[in-house]
Amino acid sequence: MTLPRRLAALLLGTDTSLRRMLQYWAATYVLYVACTLILLTQVHHGFSATTTAQTLIRWGWGTAAGFYFVIRLSPRIGLKPDQLAVLQALFSLVCTMFLYAVSGPLRGATLVMTLVTIAFCMFAARPRQTMLLSLVALAGMGVTMWWLALHDPARFPPAQEAMSFGYLAAALLSTAVLSGEMHKLRSRLKRQRRELTEALDTIRVLATVDELTSLVNRRRMHEVLEAEERRQPSSRNGQALSCIALIDIDFFKQVNDQYGHAAGDSVLRSFSSAARACLRGDDVLARWGGEEFLLLLPDASLDDARGVLERMAEQVHTMPVPGVEGRRISFSAGLATRNAGEPFADAIHRADKALYRAKESGRDRIVQA
Ligand code: GH3
Ligand code: MG
Ligand code: MG
Repeated sequence: MTLPRRLAALLLGTDTSLRRMLQYWAATYVLYVACTLILLTQVHHGFSATTTAQTLIRWGWGTAAGFYFVIRLSPRIGLKPDQLAVLQALFSLVCTMFLYAVSGPLRGATLVMTLVTIAFCMFAARPRQTMLLSLVALAGMGVTMWWLALHDPARFPPAQEAMSFGYLAAALLSTAVLSGEMHKLRSRLKRQRRELTEALDTIRVLATVDELTSLVNRRRMHEVLEAEERRQPSSRNGQALSCIALIDIDFFKQVNDQYGHAAGDSVLRSFSSAARACLRGDDVLARWGGEEFLLLLPDASLDDARGVLERMAEQVHTMPVPGVEGRRISFSAGLATRNAGEPFADAIHRADKALYRAKESGRDRIVQA
């Protein structure tokens, strides 16, 4: 991990939702910095009293910094993202009220910060929380304006304050509604993205797995074989690289005719799980079609492959099959090696011919190509 990444992990943690919250927090902190610079300029031009402004700056920066720790500890103290957003918004609103009170002739401009705070709520707070926060903001600003007009009517003319309040109320309530709508839109998009991911997962499974046996299907097996051809190209010419076996259940039609189609399905399922239990981690067994299966044994010699198939035959002879009691199930297999530089289709063709010979010579046997 690079140094900046390590530093980011140390400061922001590794949890993605916590990281997002801290990024929002950092964005609001930039806003605090901008407001502080403007406030200092106001002081410089004599619009605001130095000591009051300094107190506000210290208090604002200190509490905003404290929020970093609250956010980082939020999973441990059980604070949810929406509750954190409400807390931060409340703090920001209180700051704006004080900023309004100390900004003299520039106070009208500070009201914009109230709207920014409510707009930020679209990311985490629920629409109802945003509306409640807007009402709190409106009530708080109303009380601030009323108190200022009452105690210092010369600098805060009551009529002017009342009109400012009217503008604020209209802007604040529309921002709250818009922020709520944006939140709903974001939630809907998130839900749709989740549903889309789930649907894609399902499609991926349906496209690659055989529904009846849960084995790899023929389409997926072609991809596996292509990948195997790429993995073992023609560098070791003539040398056997892997083995392939075509397996076909014997007299399967009789099972269907005698016990019914559902029992036939049962045989296919039992065969699949019995056969799978005999395989190594890299081996792939696919349902090639009907009661025919294709087995790929990468990096296996003919002897290894024969050993696997013999073990498989023993398992299949003794496996219990629901609905087909008392009948011995067997299979025939054609086994072939895949030589370097050769496409799998050629090896499968040889395996198919060997399977034909296995059937011809009495079934329940493994024949090498
Ligand atoms: P052999 O020993 O020569 O292989 O004879 P067989 O009866 O096994 O082979 P055949 O090709 O004559 O019959 C295969 C049967 O498999 C025909 C078909 O109806 C049945 N079958 C194919 N797919 C399914 C399936 O998904 N479920 C069931 N129950 N039967 C299937
Ligand atoms: Mg058959
Ligand atoms: Mg068949």
